[in-house]
Amino acid sequence: MIYYRKSGMEQSLSQSKHLILSLDLGGTQFRLALADEKGQLLRRYAAPIYSEQGPEQAIRRIKDAITEMLSDVDPAALRGMGVATAGLVTPGTGVLLTSPNLLSWYNTPLKEVFEHELQFPVWVGNDANLAALGERRFGAGRGSDDLVYLTISTGIGGGVITGGKPLLGSSGFAAELGHMTIDLNGPRCNCGNVGCLEAMASGTAIARLALEKLSTGEVSVITDLIAGDLTKVTAEVVCEAANAGDSVACGVMHTAATNLGVGVANLVHIFNPELVIIGGGVSNAGELLFEPVRQVVAARIMPDITVRIVPAALGDNSSLLGAVALVLENTSS
Ligand SMILES: [Zn+2]
Repeated sequence: MIYYRKSGMEQSLSQSKHLILSLDLGGTQFRLALADEKGQLLRRYAAPIYSEQGPEQAIRRIKDAITEMLSDVDPAALRGMGVATAGLVTPGTGVLLTSPNLLSWYNTPLKEVFEHELQFPVWVGNDANLAALGERRFGAGRGSDDLVYLTISTGIGGGVITGGKPLLGSSGFAAELGHMTIDLNGPRCNCGNVGCLEAMASGTAIARLALEKLSTGEVSVITDLIAGDLTKVTAEVVCEAANAGDSVACGVMHTAATNLGVGVANLVHIFNPELVIIGGGVSNAGELLFEPVRQVVAARIMPDITVRIVPAALGDNSSLLGAVALVLENTSS
């Protein structure tokens, strides 16, 4: 028996004629939700994914959770399932080619497997691309046909909506925004390149920049916050110290935000978005991050271009709701 979390919206569930199942595949857990067409999450469930055991066992457990969640749902009301996953997904066919979070899931035909198991339509997309779609339909990008979404946490991911459509590229690899080069001679990135935006403005980069300062003997509140244990320096701690007025932490945040601003200015010149939406854990730094980003962008973009740079509105649910939006876009007449 799987116990899912009911949201107190069971009444909406029985009344809604359009229900969408949404699945977010992460490296440590999968999240499942049943939503209506307004993006209200009516039922939710999360469980460990044990991704290292490979896709077969995980898919079986996900199928069990879905069966339980839908046990009293009218099949005629279900429009299908959207799946958000980190990694490279082939557009249309929904094959997960490779994923940094699901290493043993190489070449898994997620769309085909789930459709065979569930007997209803399934659409699959990259989680950051879908987060852009989710923010556009239900969040900070409502009504905008041209937006860029950036998520900044341990890494930097992104999605682009242009002319009302998600930009996928020839093989689904478009919008790897974190891997644009910001500094020819910058630090090494996880992708193997150097000077990527991700290596210079992510949460990991913020922690690294702080450590570099502390290792030169600079005095900072950060040292007190981590009780002298340098392994505990995180972007969150640096933000906390910066909010307390610590000059080292403020300097680090300013450097990271400046790097981010350079990246955003590049994106503005390439895509001419109406909106740049910034989400992910690091965006919780608020104006500490947004103000310098806006200043750098204003100083760098061509004078006739206008753009708004705003925080994301959907928090942890952006990909889950993006998967809902993906189903709605594929089933609307
Ligand atoms: Zn990179």
